[in-house]
Amino acid sequence: MGLAEIAARMRAAEAAAGRAEGSVRLIAVSKVQPAERVEAVLDAGHRLFGENYVQEAAGKWPAWKARFPGVELHMIGPLQTNKAKVAVELFDVLHTVDRPSLAEKLARLADSRGVSPQLFVQVNTGEEPQKAGVLPADADAFVAACRGMGLPVVGLMCIPPEGEDSAPHFALLKAMAERNGLTGLSMGMSGDFESAIAHGATHVRVGSAIFGERDYAR
Ligand SMILES: *Cc1c(COP(=O)(O)O)cnc(C)c1O
Repeated sequence: MGLAEIAARMRAAEAAAGRAEGSVRLIAVSKVQPAERVEAVLDAGHRLFGENYVQEAAGKWPAWKARFPGVELHMIGPLQTNKAKVAVELFDVLHTVDRPSLAEKLARLADSRGVSPQLFVQVNTGEEPQKAGVLPADADAFVAACRGMGLPVVGLMCIPPEGEDSAPHFALLKAMAERNGLTGLSMGMSGDFESAIAHGATHVRVGSAIFGERDYAR
């Protein structure tokens, strides 16, 4: 597939949903991908990337940031509290704030640094025990608690259960964002980003459809 085709499909999905052209941002998810594939997308002019692992990202991105001005890096994987300091220094946006201990840590870091990445609260819309994210019933209180700590919460993020229709999860996240006065919606991956755009996504996270399949054995 590749970057140009995904961009074209996004524009078509925006138009079909009656949304403004370019209103949805494409996060190219580069986790585990070989350097030459990522560099090809950087060479094509794309600057917005997502990574899942702090250590992996810290090893790759400082050099690319120096070589390709304007890179914006988003953390989309589960964030351990003991990696939060490295994460706030490396990432512009964190999509996976999902528990009070992490929010408190991020608030302390924001106080000491005088700045914080923009934050999305991850919601476990499928209430899956193995999955990160606050439960839907706890989301409003958690967003309020984050705001009470002065954290810049800009939106909500979800990863719907595999093998299920994503649409009801996207609709749930959108309703939750609206009632909390949040405009950001991080939802939609390679298999369902068009549905996410129809449901109001502002950020889609697309990996394999841009870069090809991930080879974890490498
Ligand atoms: C890996 C990952 C993606 C990208 O998945 P693809 O199916 O390759 O598009 C998106 N979001 C999150 C949270 C991920 O971990």
